[in-house]
Amino acid sequence: MSSKDPFANATLCTHCGYCLPVCPTYRCDNDETHSPRGRVSIILAVRSGTLSPREATETLSRCLLCRACHVACPAGVKPAKLISHLRGQHPLPPLRLTRWLHRITNHHPRTRHAARLLRWYQASGLQTLLRRFRFLRFWPSLEQMEALLPAHRIDPIPAWPDPPSTPTRRVALLCGCMARLFHPRTAPATANLLNLAGCEVVVPDGFGCCGAPYRENGDKPAFVTRARATLAAFAKAAPVDAVICDSAICAVTVQGYARTLGSDPQLGQAARELAAKVVDLATFLGPLLASQGIAFGPPDQVRTIAYHDHCQTRFGSDIIEQPRKWLEQLPVTQRELVTAGTQGSCCGAGGEYLLRHAHHSQTIRADKLATIMASGAEVVAASNPGCILHLESGLRTNGANVAVRHITEIFWNAYLNRPDQPNLKELP
Ligand code: SF4
Ligand code: SF4
Repeated sequence: MSSKDPFANATLCTHCGYCLPVCPTYRCDNDETHSPRGRVSIILAVRSGTLSPREATETLSRCLLCRACHVACPAGVKPAKLISHLRGQHPLPPLRLTRWLHRITNHHPRTRHAARLLRWYQASGLQTLLRRFRFLRFWPSLEQMEALLPAHRIDPIPAWPDPPSTPTRRVALLCGCMARLFHPRTAPATANLLNLAGCEVVVPDGFGCCGAPYRENGDKPAFVTRARATLAAFAKAAPVDAVICDSAICAVTVQGYARTLGSDPQLGQAARELAAKVVDLATFLGPLLASQGIAFGPPDQVRTIAYHDHCQTRFGSDIIEQPRKWLEQLPVTQRELVTAGTQGSCCGAGGEYLLRHAHHSQTIRADKLATIMASGAEVVAASNPGCILHLESGLRTNGANVAVRHITEIFWNAYLNRPDQPNLKELP
């Protein structure tokens, strides 16, 4: 094999098994095929020609690409990266429902209209009616997706802030498409906090979707189309000091443009420049807000909080302490979520995974829900829309009195409840 062999990394595997306990799909049913070690063996079989790539892609679709195994492996094997390479050659076919959904989310105005329609659907009582009689049961995927809709998405949306008179920084806010559709309160809450921190906030006109779903499925042409559109939108917003993504998966994806598109003759330079400007939300906002000396109150009725890591952000970008340190600014007790002895374990959402492998996704989630309920946390803070939807609907179904909210929504509520403004309350 040549030195450019994308699967060479698999040969480093010593079959030691250190990766097994951290892998959520292996923990799900103890099947070696769906362990990191098993997946590396499948990749090696493809590499040697004894297994067809198409067959392997299908079996390997059970991997969440969470990257927990990358951190656990003493030999430096990166199963998720190997699987991504394979998907780049043999993409996972998109689901019919998500293909339809992406037609909306790739397009900013369509997302806005769809978000309003969803609001009407929930507020008008139609949702209650459809759920009571299970009208959507003939379309299982649609019913499953509908069940994800959080009740709090129809609560009042914070007003967008006026620009500060003397901003210290100019920041581009990339509002994730799924967040805009399912969590319309996240972007204004994030903008208000950036504003409090003295930043002028610009939202790049024309930004639809960063390409994360296509990247995960290995659909390169669609990914490049989305990345090209994101770069064009960003170019209109420049110059900015930093780019903040309110969705964790978008930050991971846009930071990854440097790697995925960095050598592209047309897009390479712009991709590298944009990727270099992306700063993790907690890394950026936590210290800036602390430097302003703002005293936050407790989020409503909440005394105990836990942080749910987005797995790719934790295991791929090593963002672990920053959100926890930021949450220390709140007058609440913080708890850690430790599932089966491991921290930061994936909740099973995994983008399309929660529809593609619904049963396994929910089995993996059940572990996480048990951890949350045992932790005593009254609210779980998170920064990835898919995790929030998945965990929130699971807790609701289990009758648990635990809210799951985007971390900026929690902080904006805590700001409204600050000691010198006791009458302003909004969330959760
Ligand atoms: S992937 Fe790494 S941790 Fe897992 S069995 Fe192979 S060498 Fe060991
Ligand atoms: S990326 Fe996650 S789901 Fe996939 S093999 Fe590694 S630990 Fe398991």
